[in-house]
Amino acid sequence: MTEKAGCWFAEVVDAAQLTPHMVRVTFGGKDIAQYVSNGSPDECVTVFFPRDGEDRPPAMTAIDGVWWFHGIDPIPEGRNYTVRRFDPASGRLVIDFVAHEGGVASAWALSATAGQTILLTRPRRWYNVPETARWQLLVADMTGLPSLGRAVEQLPAGARAHVIVEVLERGDIQTFETAGEVTYDWRVGSGNGDCASVLENAVENFELPDGEGYVWFAGEASTSRAVRKYVRKVLGFPVRQFEIIGYWRVNSEQWLEKYKAYQEEALAVYNGALAAGRTQAEASDEFDAMLERVGL
Ligand SMILES: Cc1cc2nc3c(=O)[nH]c(=O)nc-3n(C[C@H](O)[C@H](O)[C@H](O)COP(=O)(O)OP(=O)(O)OC[C@H]3O[C@@H](n4cnc5c(N)ncnc54)[C@H](O)[C@@H]3O)c2cc1C
Repeated sequence: MTEKAGCWFAEVVDAAQLTPHMVRVTFGGKDIAQYVSNGSPDECVTVFFPRDGEDRPPAMTAIDGVWWFHGIDPIPEGRNYTVRRFDPASGRLVIDFVAHEGGVASAWALSATAGQTILLTRPRRWYNVPETARWQLLVADMTGLPSLGRAVEQLPAGARAHVIVEVLERGDIQTFETAGEVTYDWRVGSGNGDCASVLENAVENFELPDGEGYVWFAGEASTSRAVRKYVRKVLGFPVRQFEIIGYWRVNSEQWLEKYKAYQEEALAVYNGALAAGRTQAEASDEFDAMLERVGL
């Protein structure tokens, strides 16, 4: 596929246990060497896996500029992952997969071997620190750790960041090289699908430094909702000063089943808020509040 491609095939070159609950997969091959990175720490691609009985996913095609599996049924399973590293010189791309119970992606990563092929989409991004920010608060569970690691590594000299990360065990703690001034608060043995997360509490107890700040969060969806509420409603941060994203959801199967019954109503609330002139952030708040009322 050419540089203008909307997706790239990537072959496993190496797969190794990075920490007890993280598998690092390195991809290579002619196609992925043409990958176009967006340079952001939270550079996210959707990874598509081979369908049963096939050794690689089908290719996407473009119709009216939209890259998709047009005319392909069933479409392969796809999940969102962060590009931990891409080196255009060697054509190597690295993704760190959390190893958890159940799940197409986790199971694939745990058994990945050289030569296996997956498909990646064009990258997307959200992390966007205003130039006026004097400090950053970077918060993640294990799924957000690849983006967080990249954010720390990409800090320019003199940039200040405080990091709060929740990992399953001490061996899952990682170290990063950085030119920035970084303080770390590792929380061991909570969240990550094992038990309740302590991240909301840790963020609430963080003493804000002076000056304008930027908060970035990536982790479980219900925790992200609680943290967003705190940052918006209690700290009163304007939307340009934070990016708080749910990367996954505990018991997603049950949640999705229940969500189906309320999807139409929730989307009507969201679209109604936009039509009434409210901002996207306000519309999202109303969408979240409606789902919370029904226990979602
Ligand atoms: C922008 C973005 C970037 C992301 N980057 C990364 C990344 O770099 N590395 C990474 O590992 N993940 C990342 N994720 C999260 C990843 O997409 C989800 O964890 C995904 O659900 C995993 O797919 P799966 O097929 O393994 O499990 P699914 O089929 O989605 O789920 C199967 C079961 O596993 C549970 N589950 C899903 N994820 C986890 C988890 N992490 N821990 C415990 N239980 C889980 C679900 O609740 C469900 O019960 C990212 C998500 C987003 C939105």
